[in-house]
Amino acid sequence: MSERTFSIIKPDAVRKGYTGAILAEIEKAGFKIIAVKRLSISKQQAEGFYHVHAARPFFSSLTTFMSSGPIFPLVLEKDNAIPDLRKLMGATNPANAEEGTIRKQYAGSIEENAIHGSDAAETAAFEIGYFFAGYELA
Ligand code: ATP
Ligand code: MG
Repeated sequence: MSERTFSIIKPDAVRKGYTGAILAEIEKAGFKIIAVKRLSISKQQAEGFYHVHAARPFFSSLTTFMSSGPIFPLVLEKDNAIPDLRKLMGATNPANAEEGTIRKQYAGSIEENAIHGSDAAETAAFEIGYFFAGYELA
């Protein structure tokens, strides 16, 4: 069934000039890009986005990283978009990511890992709403 998911091209990948290459991988994998924009977020805005990780030891470092430069939030659509994007991204730690995945090709470390993808329908709904207004998704 056609489904929407939320993704972010993270600051490390944008800084390295991988935005276009990652968007091409996403389209090649059959995703339709419903919405995309470039912006920088504050540490406080990053904390709101990653609130589920607030108790993790890497929370402060992660939110500093996510607010360290421009990012590209994306809304993507295809059948089984949520699991299929996770598969295309590869493991959180690029050292464990499968060959051909985005993180294997473009990520530098477990923290600076190039791309975010929603892990469930409820988180996708929250994350899309965090970055996009309804009129941007029409
Ligand atoms: P994302 O939610 O960004 O798609 P993920 O679901 O693969 O990634 P999570 O466990 O949700 O991984 O962690 C969120 C993000 O926090 C990771 O993508 C990574 O940037 C960072 N992170 C996760 N684990 C660590 C760690 N052990 N040390 C540093 N940063 C980490
Ligand atoms: Mg996650």
